[in-house]
Amino acid sequence: MKDYIIVGFGFAGSSLAHLLEKNQKSFVIFNDNPAPVTTVAGAMFNPVILKRFTPVWRIQEQMQLLLPFFSEIEKKLHTSFIYKVRVFRKFASVEEKNNWFVASDKPILSEYLSTKILNKVSPYVTTPFGLGEVLHTGLVNTRILIPTYQEKLQKEGIFFEEKFNYNALEIKEEYVHYKGIDAKRIVFCEGYDMVRNPLFKALPMVGSKGELLSFESDDLQLSGVIKSDGFIAPLGGNAFKVGTTYDNDDKDPSPTLQGRKILIEKLEHLISCPYRITGQMAGIRPTVKDRRPLVGVHPKYKNLFILNGLGTHGAFLAPYTATALYDFIEKSITLDKEMNIERYYRYFV
Ligand SMILES: Cc1cc2nc3c(=O)[nH]c(=O)nc-3n(C[C@H](O)[C@H](O)[C@H](O)COP(=O)(O)OP(=O)(O)OC[C@H]3O[C@@H](n4cnc5c(N)ncnc54)[C@H](O)[C@@H]3O)c2cc1C
Repeated sequence: MKDYIIVGFGFAGSSLAHLLEKNQKSFVIFNDNPAPVTTVAGAMFNPVILKRFTPVWRIQEQMQLLLPFFSEIEKKLHTSFIYKVRVFRKFASVEEKNNWFVASDKPILSEYLSTKILNKVSPYVTTPFGLGEVLHTGLVNTRILIPTYQEKLQKEGIFFEEKFNYNALEIKEEYVHYKGIDAKRIVFCEGYDMVRNPLFKALPMVGSKGELLSFESDDLQLSGVIKSDGFIAPLGGNAFKVGTTYDNDDKDPSPTLQGRKILIEKLEHLISCPYRITGQMAGIRPTVKDRRPLVGVHPKYKNLFILNGLGTHGAFLAPYTATALYDFIEKSITLDKEMNIERYYRYFV
Protein backbone atom coordinates (compact mmCIF):
# COMPACT_ATOMS: atom_id res chain seq x y z
CA MET A 1 0.00 0.00 0.00
CA LYS A 2 1.51 3.35 -1.09
CA ASP A 3 0.68 6.46 0.91
CA TYR A 4 -0.02 8.59 -2.18
CA ILE A 5 -0.54 8.65 -5.93
CA ILE A 6 0.26 12.03 -7.50
CA VAL A 7 -1.10 12.94 -10.94
CA GLY A 8 0.89 15.74 -12.61
CA PHE A 9 4.47 16.88 -12.17
CA GLY A 10 4.67 20.63 -12.65
CA PHE A 11 5.21 23.10 -9.81
CA ALA A 12 2.33 21.59 -7.80
CA GLY A 13 3.15 17.88 -8.16
CA SER A 14 6.90 18.35 -7.67
CA SER A 15 6.40 20.44 -4.53
CA LEU A 16 4.10 17.85 -3.03
CA ALA A 17 6.54 15.07 -3.98
CA HIS A 18 9.28 16.93 -2.13
CA LEU A 19 7.21 17.14 1.05
CA LEU A 20 6.31 13.47 0.85
CA GLU A 21 9.95 12.46 0.48
CA LYS A 22 10.94 14.74 3.32
CA ASN A 23 8.38 13.04 5.57
CA GLN A 24 9.19 9.48 4.47
CA LYS A 25 5.84 8.92 2.76
CA SER A 26 5.69 6.48 -0.13
CA PHE A 27 4.23 7.54 -3.47
CA VAL A 28 4.10 7.10 -7.23
CA ILE A 29 3.67 9.79 -9.88
CA PHE A 30 1.86 9.77 -13.21
CA ASN A 31 2.69 12.59 -15.60
CA ASP A 32 2.07 12.57 -19.32
CA ASN A 33 4.06 15.59 -20.47
CA PRO A 34 7.83 16.07 -20.04
CA ALA A 35 7.37 19.83 -20.62
CA PRO A 36 4.51 20.99 -18.38
CA VAL A 37 3.41 24.65 -18.32
CA THR A 38 5.74 25.04 -15.35
CA THR A 39 8.70 24.73 -17.74
CA VAL A 40 7.38 27.26 -20.30
CA ALA A 41 8.85 30.15 -18.35
CA GLY A 42 11.75 30.16 -15.93
CA ALA A 43 9.46 31.31 -13.17
CA MET A 44 10.19 34.72 -11.72
CA PHE A 45 9.11 35.56 -8.22
CA ASN A 46 8.21 39.12 -7.48
CA PRO A 47 6.32 39.99 -4.30
CA VAL A 48 4.51 43.03 -5.74
CA ILE A 49 1.80 43.23 -8.42
CA LEU A 50 3.23 46.20 -10.27
CA LYS A 51 0.09 47.07 -12.22
CA ARG A 52 -1.69 48.02 -9.02
CA PHE A 53 1.20 48.35 -6.54
CA THR A 54 -0.36 45.73 -4.28
CA PRO A 55 1.36 42.82 -2.54
CA VAL A 56 0.89 39.27 -3.84
CA TRP A 57 -1.74 37.35 -1.82
CA ARG A 58 -0.34 36.03 1.52
CA ILE A 59 3.02 37.45 0.54
CA GLN A 60 4.72 37.27 3.92
CA GLU A 61 3.87 33.61 4.48
CA GLN A 62 4.93 32.73 0.94
CA MET A 63 8.20 34.67 1.11
CA GLN A 64 9.12 32.85 4.30
CA LEU A 65 8.69 29.46 2.64
CA LEU A 66 9.95 29.95 -0.90
CA LEU A 67 13.73 30.06 -0.53
CA PRO A 68 14.12 27.39 2.19
CA PHE A 69 11.72 25.10 0.31
CA PHE A 70 13.47 25.26 -3.06
CA SER A 71 16.92 25.24 -1.42
CA GLU A 72 16.04 21.89 0.17
CA ILE A 73 15.18 20.51 -3.28
CA GLU A 74 18.40 21.95 -4.73
CA LYS A 75 20.40 20.14 -2.03
CA LYS A 76 18.53 16.91 -2.57
CA LEU A 77 19.09 17.02 -6.34
CA HIS A 78 22.69 18.30 -6.06
CA THR A 79 21.97 21.17 -8.43
CA SER A 80 21.14 24.90 -8.47
CA PHE A 81 18.03 26.42 -9.93
CA ILE A 82 17.19 29.48 -7.80
CA TYR A 83 18.84 32.75 -8.72
CA LYS A 84 18.69 36.28 -7.49
CA VAL A 85 17.39 38.46 -10.33
CA ARG A 86 16.82 42.19 -9.98
CA VAL A 87 13.45 43.52 -11.15
CA PHE A 88 12.95 47.14 -12.25
CA ARG A 89 9.71 48.97 -12.92
CA LYS A 90 10.01 51.43 -15.78
CA PHE A 91 7.78 54.38 -14.85
CA ALA A 92 5.39 55.49 -17.57
CA SER A 93 4.75 58.94 -16.06
CA VAL A 94 5.52 61.25 -13.15
CA GLU A 95 2.20 60.17 -11.65
CA GLU A 96 3.28 56.54 -11.64
CA LYS A 97 6.55 57.46 -9.98
CA ASN A 98 4.57 59.28 -7.29
CA ASN A 99 2.32 56.25 -6.83
CA TRP A 100 5.44 54.16 -6.28
CA PHE A 101 6.52 56.42 -3.42
CA VAL A 102 3.04 56.33 -1.88
CA ALA A 103 3.00 52.51 -2.11
CA SER A 104 6.53 52.19 -0.69
CA ASP A 105 5.33 54.01 2.42
CA LYS A 106 2.74 51.33 3.21
CA PRO A 107 3.97 48.94 5.92
CA ILE A 108 3.36 45.74 3.92
CA LEU A 109 5.15 47.09 0.81
CA SER A 110 7.96 49.09 2.36
CA GLU A 111 10.34 46.13 2.50
CA TYR A 112 9.74 45.29 -1.18
CA LEU A 113 9.84 48.67 -2.95
CA SER A 114 13.15 50.51 -2.96
CA THR A 115 12.84 54.28 -2.63
CA LYS A 116 16.07 54.81 -4.56
CA ILE A 117 15.07 55.76 -8.12
CA LEU A 118 17.38 54.69 -10.95
CA ASN A 119 17.83 56.62 -14.19
CA LYS A 120 19.13 53.99 -16.59
CA VAL A 121 19.59 50.22 -16.83
CA SER A 122 20.70 49.91 -20.47
CA PRO A 123 21.76 52.39 -23.15
CA TYR A 124 19.00 50.95 -25.35
CA VAL A 125 16.08 51.28 -22.94
CA THR A 126 14.70 54.80 -22.65
CA THR A 127 13.49 55.63 -19.17
CA PRO A 128 12.52 59.32 -19.07
CA PHE A 129 10.72 58.97 -15.72
CA GLY A 130 13.28 56.62 -14.18
CA LEU A 131 12.89 53.13 -12.70
CA GLY A 132 12.02 51.71 -9.30
CA GLU A 133 13.55 48.48 -8.02
CA VAL A 134 11.49 45.72 -6.43
CA LEU A 135 13.43 43.95 -3.69
CA HIS A 136 13.55 40.23 -2.75
CA THR A 137 12.95 39.08 -6.33
CA GLY A 138 14.41 36.10 -8.17
CA LEU A 139 13.92 33.22 -10.53
CA VAL A 140 13.26 29.49 -10.21
CA ASN A 141 14.77 27.81 -13.26
CA THR A 142 12.09 25.21 -13.79
CA ARG A 143 13.92 23.79 -16.82
CA ILE A 144 16.47 22.47 -14.36
CA LEU A 145 14.13 21.71 -11.45
CA ILE A 146 11.53 19.59 -13.28
CA PRO A 147 13.70 17.34 -15.50
CA THR A 148 16.34 16.81 -12.80
CA TYR A 149 13.73 15.86 -10.21
CA GLN A 150 11.87 13.67 -12.70
CA GLU A 151 15.08 11.81 -13.59
CA LYS A 152 15.75 11.06 -9.92
CA LEU A 153 12.24 9.68 -9.38
CA GLN A 154 12.39 7.68 -12.62
CA LYS A 155 15.61 6.04 -11.43
CA GLU A 156 13.78 5.08 -8.24
CA GLY A 157 11.03 3.50 -10.36
CA ILE A 158 8.23 5.66 -8.92
CA PHE A 159 7.64 8.01 -11.89
CA PHE A 160 5.43 6.84 -14.75
CA GLU A 161 5.52 8.92 -17.91
CA GLU A 162 1.96 8.20 -18.99
CA LYS A 163 -1.52 9.66 -19.05
CA PHE A 164 -3.60 8.87 -15.99
CA ASN A 165 -6.78 7.09 -17.09
CA TYR A 166 -9.65 8.21 -14.83
CA ASN A 167 -11.80 5.24 -15.89
CA ALA A 168 -9.26 2.83 -14.39
CA LEU A 169 -9.39 4.42 -10.93
CA GLU A 170 -11.29 2.42 -8.33
CA ILE A 171 -12.28 4.44 -5.28
CA LYS A 172 -12.67 2.23 -2.18
CA GLU A 173 -13.72 3.25 1.31
CA GLU A 174 -10.19 3.39 2.78
CA TYR A 175 -7.93 3.57 -0.28
CA VAL A 176 -7.80 3.87 -4.07
CA HIS A 177 -6.74 1.24 -6.60
CA TYR A 178 -5.16 2.08 -9.95
CA LYS A 179 -3.59 -0.41 -12.39
CA GLY A 180 -2.30 -2.77 -9.72
CA ILE A 181 -1.34 0.00 -7.28
CA ASP A 182 -3.13 0.51 -3.96
CA ALA A 183 -2.68 3.90 -2.30
CA LYS A 184 -4.21 5.51 0.75
CA ARG A 185 -5.03 8.60 -1.30
CA ILE A 186 -4.58 10.32 -4.64
CA VAL A 187 -3.75 13.98 -5.27
CA PHE A 188 -4.51 15.58 -8.65
CA CYS A 189 -1.95 18.28 -9.57
CA GLU A 190 -2.93 18.63 -13.20
CA GLY A 191 -2.74 22.35 -13.88
CA TYR A 192 -5.16 23.54 -16.56
CA ASP A 193 -5.80 19.90 -17.66
CA MET A 194 -8.04 19.62 -14.60
CA VAL A 195 -10.85 20.65 -16.94
CA ARG A 196 -10.73 17.09 -18.35
CA ASN A 197 -10.79 15.36 -14.95
CA PRO A 198 -14.37 14.09 -14.41
CA LEU A 199 -13.86 14.11 -10.63
CA PHE A 200 -12.87 17.77 -10.28
CA LYS A 201 -13.91 19.50 -13.50
CA ALA A 202 -16.86 21.14 -11.70
CA LEU A 203 -14.38 23.61 -10.18
CA PRO A 204 -14.30 27.01 -11.92
CA MET A 205 -10.94 26.87 -13.66
CA VAL A 206 -10.69 29.75 -16.14
CA GLY A 207 -7.28 29.26 -17.73
CA SER A 208 -5.22 32.10 -19.12
CA LYS A 209 -2.98 31.43 -22.09
CA GLY A 210 0.41 33.11 -22.00
CA GLU A 211 3.06 33.43 -24.68
CA LEU A 212 6.73 34.44 -24.61
CA LEU A 213 9.41 35.12 -27.20
CA SER A 214 13.08 34.43 -26.73
CA PHE A 215 15.52 36.69 -28.56
CA GLU A 216 19.18 37.58 -28.85
CA SER A 217 20.67 41.04 -28.84
CA ASP A 218 24.38 41.78 -28.86
CA ASP A 219 23.93 45.39 -27.71
CA LEU A 220 21.22 45.33 -25.04
CA GLN A 221 23.44 44.81 -21.95
CA LEU A 222 20.64 44.33 -19.46
CA SER A 223 21.37 42.57 -16.20
CA GLY A 224 17.91 42.68 -14.57
CA VAL A 225 14.26 42.31 -15.54
CA ILE A 226 12.51 45.42 -16.85
CA LYS A 227 8.76 45.62 -16.37
CA SER A 228 6.47 48.05 -18.07
CA ASP A 229 3.63 46.93 -20.34
CA GLY A 230 5.20 43.47 -20.51
CA PHE A 231 8.71 42.58 -19.45
CA ILE A 232 12.16 41.73 -20.73
CA ALA A 233 14.26 39.28 -18.76
CA PRO A 234 17.92 38.37 -19.29
CA LEU A 235 18.65 34.66 -19.85
CA GLY A 236 22.45 34.87 -19.79
CA GLY A 237 24.95 36.16 -22.38
CA ASN A 238 23.13 37.88 -25.24
CA ALA A 239 19.90 35.87 -24.71
CA PHE A 240 16.66 37.41 -23.40
CA LYS A 241 12.95 36.78 -23.33
CA VAL A 242 10.01 39.13 -23.70
CA GLY A 243 6.61 38.46 -22.20
CA THR A 244 3.86 37.99 -21.84
CA THR A 245 0.34 37.78 -23.15
CA TYR A 246 -2.90 37.00 -21.27
CA ASP A 247 -5.73 35.37 -23.21
CA ASN A 248 -8.68 33.78 -21.41
CA ASP A 249 -10.42 32.64 -24.62
CA ASP A 250 -7.87 30.62 -26.59
CA LYS A 251 -7.44 27.19 -24.94
CA ASP A 252 -5.03 25.76 -27.53
CA PRO A 253 -1.59 25.68 -25.88
CA SER A 254 0.36 26.25 -29.13
CA PRO A 255 2.12 29.55 -29.92
CA THR A 256 0.21 31.92 -32.25
CA LEU A 257 1.07 34.57 -34.85
CA GLN A 258 -1.11 37.05 -32.97
CA GLY A 259 0.88 36.39 -29.76
CA ARG A 260 4.13 36.91 -31.64
CA LYS A 261 2.87 40.21 -33.04
CA ILE A 262 1.82 41.51 -29.60
CA LEU A 263 5.16 40.51 -28.06
CA ILE A 264 7.20 42.14 -30.85
CA GLU A 265 5.24 45.35 -30.24
CA LYS A 266 6.03 45.15 -26.53
CA LEU A 267 9.70 44.50 -27.30
CA GLU A 268 10.03 47.38 -29.75
CA HIS A 269 8.28 49.66 -27.32
CA LEU A 270 10.94 48.82 -24.72
CA ILE A 271 14.25 48.59 -26.61
CA SER A 272 15.89 50.51 -29.43
CA CYS A 273 18.67 48.16 -30.58
CA PRO A 274 18.74 45.29 -33.12
CA TYR A 275 17.49 41.85 -32.04
CA ARG A 276 16.86 38.36 -33.48
CA ILE A 277 13.86 36.29 -32.39
CA THR A 278 15.04 32.79 -31.51
CA GLY A 279 11.94 31.06 -30.20
CA GLN A 280 8.32 31.26 -29.06
CA MET A 281 6.70 29.46 -26.12
CA ALA A 282 3.13 29.21 -24.89
CA GLY A 283 1.13 27.57 -22.13
CA ILE A 284 -2.15 27.85 -20.24
CA ARG A 285 -1.92 29.15 -16.68
CA PRO A 286 -4.30 27.41 -14.25
CA THR A 287 -6.19 30.53 -13.22
CA VAL A 288 -9.41 30.38 -11.19
CA LYS A 289 -12.54 32.51 -11.18
CA ASP A 290 -11.72 34.13 -7.81
CA ARG A 291 -7.90 34.14 -8.43
CA ARG A 292 -7.25 31.85 -5.48
CA PRO A 293 -5.73 28.34 -5.44
CA LEU A 294 -7.84 25.17 -5.52
CA VAL A 295 -6.77 23.00 -2.60
CA GLY A 296 -8.60 20.37 -0.59
CA VAL A 297 -10.57 17.18 -0.51
CA HIS A 298 -13.30 16.01 -2.88
CA PRO A 299 -16.77 16.66 -1.41
CA LYS A 300 -17.82 13.02 -1.83
CA TYR A 301 -14.62 10.93 -1.69
CA LYS A 302 -12.34 11.44 1.32
CA ASN A 303 -9.29 9.88 -0.43
CA LEU A 304 -9.28 12.25 -3.41
CA PHE A 305 -7.48 15.59 -3.19
CA ILE A 306 -6.60 18.48 -5.44
CA LEU A 307 -3.64 20.88 -5.56
CA ASN A 308 -4.21 23.40 -8.33
CA GLY A 309 -5.10 26.97 -9.26
CA LEU A 310 -1.54 28.31 -8.99
CA GLY A 311 -2.47 30.82 -11.71
CA THR A 312 0.21 33.36 -12.54
CA HIS A 313 2.24 32.73 -9.36
CA GLY A 314 3.37 29.11 -9.47
CA ALA A 315 6.77 29.79 -7.90
CA PHE A 316 5.28 31.42 -4.81
CA LEU A 317 2.16 29.32 -4.51
CA ALA A 318 3.57 25.83 -5.05
CA PRO A 319 5.54 25.59 -1.76
CA TYR A 320 2.78 27.37 0.16
CA THR A 321 -0.20 25.38 -1.12
CA ALA A 322 1.63 22.02 -1.10
CA THR A 323 2.60 22.59 2.54
CA ALA A 324 -0.97 23.59 3.40
CA LEU A 325 -2.38 20.47 1.73
CA TYR A 326 0.17 18.20 3.39
CA ASP A 327 -0.59 19.68 6.81
CA PHE A 328 -4.32 19.35 6.14
CA ILE A 329 -4.04 15.65 5.25
CA GLU A 330 -1.36 14.50 7.67
CA LYS A 331 -1.81 16.86 10.63
CA SER A 332 -5.51 17.80 10.31
CA ILE A 333 -4.56 21.49 10.15
CA THR A 334 -7.46 23.53 8.77
CA LEU A 335 -7.02 24.91 5.26
CA ASP A 336 -7.18 28.64 4.64
CA LYS A 337 -10.80 29.27 3.54
CA GLU A 338 -9.67 31.34 0.57
CA MET A 339 -7.88 28.38 -1.02
CA ASN A 340 -10.09 25.54 0.27
CA ILE A 341 -12.27 24.08 -2.51
CA GLU A 342 -15.07 23.88 0.05
CA ARG A 343 -16.00 27.33 -1.25
CA TYR A 344 -17.08 25.61 -4.48
CA TYR A 345 -18.69 22.43 -3.13
CA ARG A 346 -22.03 23.73 -4.36
CA TYR A 347 -20.71 23.30 -7.95
CA PHE A 348 -20.47 19.49 -7.52
CA VAL A 349 -23.74 17.69 -8.24
C1 LIG B 1 3.88 32.26 -20.38
C2 LIG B 1 3.82 31.98 -18.91
C3 LIG B 1 4.67 32.65 -18.04
C4 LIG B 1 4.63 32.39 -16.68
N1 LIG B 1 5.51 33.04 -15.87
C5 LIG B 1 5.52 32.78 -14.55
C6 LIG B 1 6.47 33.41 -13.70
O1 LIG B 1 7.32 34.18 -14.16
N2 LIG B 1 6.42 33.13 -12.36
C7 LIG B 1 5.51 32.25 -11.84
O2 LIG B 1 5.52 32.03 -10.64
N3 LIG B 1 4.60 31.63 -12.63
C8 LIG B 1 4.58 31.88 -13.95
N4 LIG B 1 3.67 31.27 -14.76
C9 LIG B 1 2.62 30.44 -14.12
C10 LIG B 1 3.15 29.05 -13.77
O3 LIG B 1 3.78 28.52 -14.90
C11 LIG B 1 1.97 28.16 -13.30
O4 LIG B 1 1.38 28.71 -12.16
C12 LIG B 1 2.46 26.74 -12.94
O5 LIG B 1 3.25 26.23 -13.96
C13 LIG B 1 1.32 25.79 -12.67
O6 LIG B 1 1.88 24.57 -12.25
P1 LIG B 1 1.04 23.25 -12.13
O7 LIG B 1 1.91 22.21 -11.54
O8 LIG B 1 -0.26 23.53 -11.45
O9 LIG B 1 0.62 22.87 -13.64
P2 LIG B 1 1.49 22.32 -14.87
O10 LIG B 1 2.84 22.90 -14.91
O11 LIG B 1 0.60 22.48 -16.07
O12 LIG B 1 1.66 20.77 -14.56
C14 LIG B 1 0.60 19.86 -14.62
C15 LIG B 1 1.10 18.54 -15.15
O13 LIG B 1 0.08 17.55 -15.01
C16 LIG B 1 0.05 16.76 -16.17
N5 LIG B 1 -1.26 16.10 -16.29
C17 LIG B 1 -2.48 16.66 -16.34
N6 LIG B 1 -3.44 15.72 -16.45
C18 LIG B 1 -2.79 14.53 -16.47
C19 LIG B 1 -3.22 13.17 -16.61
N7 LIG B 1 -4.51 12.82 -16.72
N8 LIG B 1 -2.28 12.18 -16.62
C20 LIG B 1 -0.97 12.49 -16.47
N9 LIG B 1 -0.51 13.76 -16.35
C21 LIG B 1 -1.40 14.76 -16.36
C22 LIG B 1 0.31 17.80 -17.28
O14 LIG B 1 0.67 17.20 -18.50
C23 LIG B 1 1.44 18.59 -16.65
O15 LIG B 1 2.66 17.94 -16.89
C24 LIG B 1 3.69 31.46 -16.15
C25 LIG B 1 2.86 30.76 -17.02
C26 LIG B 1 2.92 31.00 -18.39
C27 LIG B 1 2.03 30.24 -19.32
